[in-house]
Amino acid sequence: MSFESLGLLPELLRAVREQGYETPTPIQIQAIPLVLEGRDLMARAQTGTGKTAGFTLPLLQRLAPQANTSASPARHPIRALILTPTRELAMQVEESVRTYGKYIPLRSTTIFGGVNINPQTKALRAGAEILVATPGRLLDHQGQGNLNFSQLEVVILDEADRMLDMGFIRDIQKIIALLPVNRQTLLFSATFTDEIKQLASKFLKNPASVQITPLNTAAELVRQVVHPVDRERKRALLAHLITSRKLEQVLVFTRTKHGANRLSEQLDKDGISSMAIHGNKSQPQRIKALEDFKKGAVRVLVATDIAARGLDIDMLPHVVNYELPQVPEDYIHRIGRTGRAGSEGEALSLVCVDEHRLLKDIEKLLRKELPKDVIQGYAPDPSIPAEPIQTGRQGGGGGRSRGPARAARPSSGQTPRGERGRHPARTSPRGK
Ligand code: AMP
Repeated sequence: MSFESLGLLPELLRAVREQGYETPTPIQIQAIPLVLEGRDLMARAQTGTGKTAGFTLPLLQRLAPQANTSASPARHPIRALILTPTRELAMQVEESVRTYGKYIPLRSTTIFGGVNINPQTKALRAGAEILVATPGRLLDHQGQGNLNFSQLEVVILDEADRMLDMGFIRDIQKIIALLPVNRQTLLFSATFTDEIKQLASKFLKNPASVQITPLNTAAELVRQVVHPVDRERKRALLAHLITSRKLEQVLVFTRTKHGANRLSEQLDKDGISSMAIHGNKSQPQRIKALEDFKKGAVRVLVATDIAARGLDIDMLPHVVNYELPQVPEDYIHRIGRTGRAGSEGEALSLVCVDEHRLLKDIEKLLRKELPKDVIQGYAPDPSIPAEPIQTGRQGGGGGRSRGPARAARPSSGQTPRGERGRHPARTSPRGK
């Protein structure tokens, strides 16, 4: 199968060629013809499958006939809206739009929270056919009268499951209510939960359904190991694994921002170059951390799930679950960052007594037990009792945790507000 045979415009084929892509990925093969036909689409595909090009290429093609170089904003109404859960993903999606749309005179712009609204307002006023947005900030702009969706033809919900996880359901409903009924709707999600199906049945019309890398297949491509260890010895074990096995480019997941910061600082002290990336970091800080990690200047990137979500980090050799996620599906997202495109990858999980139930949940989702490997010198002490897990998610404004309610450990110094509640796209005042 070639990109040519998918019926894409020469302008798009040229841009794709310049990216060095030789063949379309499975999601592209399935999604592109359906989107070109104008069908609504419900696609199960995670990051790393090429899903972004899977919707961006046919979107550009559908909008191309009316593309123009006029300077008048009126000639550049919003014709497509792409909703994403995070600003990182919004930036990356828009980057893809620019990359693949390089030879088609369509304009795009991004709006997300956590940054000054005025430049975004200016860009909106100048006109852009393709708008990439996080839900909260989009509603801010709507409240300020900066948006007109009367010409909208296509809406894309990217990483819809994550948007629901982050508590954006009401925002999404409000946004969809602003759009013309006569439109094409595409929904991309790594999982097809009942909630996602409900969302789809409400907003999609007779959708075609495509499924790429079902959960289990994705997980099976990655060598997964659990290292049982005591809570207090996790850091020592991590440092030991990294140095003794000479691991490079290690993406480490923690549950909380505070935990990410602390671990990153401690690793640095251990002589292992490290950076943390999470929702409290400024945009330039996050971009710098990611760039340093990608080029190998930083050995370990410590991330929370939300910060890592949607980051374009390909084919990582090692992913470490320093703490297991509260939501078992997040485990799949995390390990999906390794072993991509047939390369070898491994996912190590450092699991302490507090996390046995989380591990069980993950194994239930995977429908298999993960191999356990006790590292010599780090065997857990069976006399240590389990403690409640601090999620860092209590009291988040509008965020919804699918995990069981657990008490925060007051001694940890962890602030009770969670990353979800603090998501920048949701904190700015609504201009209504
Ligand atoms: P995504 O799943 O959209 O996050 O894409 C994951 C990565 O795959 C990105 O770095 C893309 O540039 C890359 N990619 C997308 N389509 C192709 C393709 N057909 N061949 C090779 N790489 C691709």
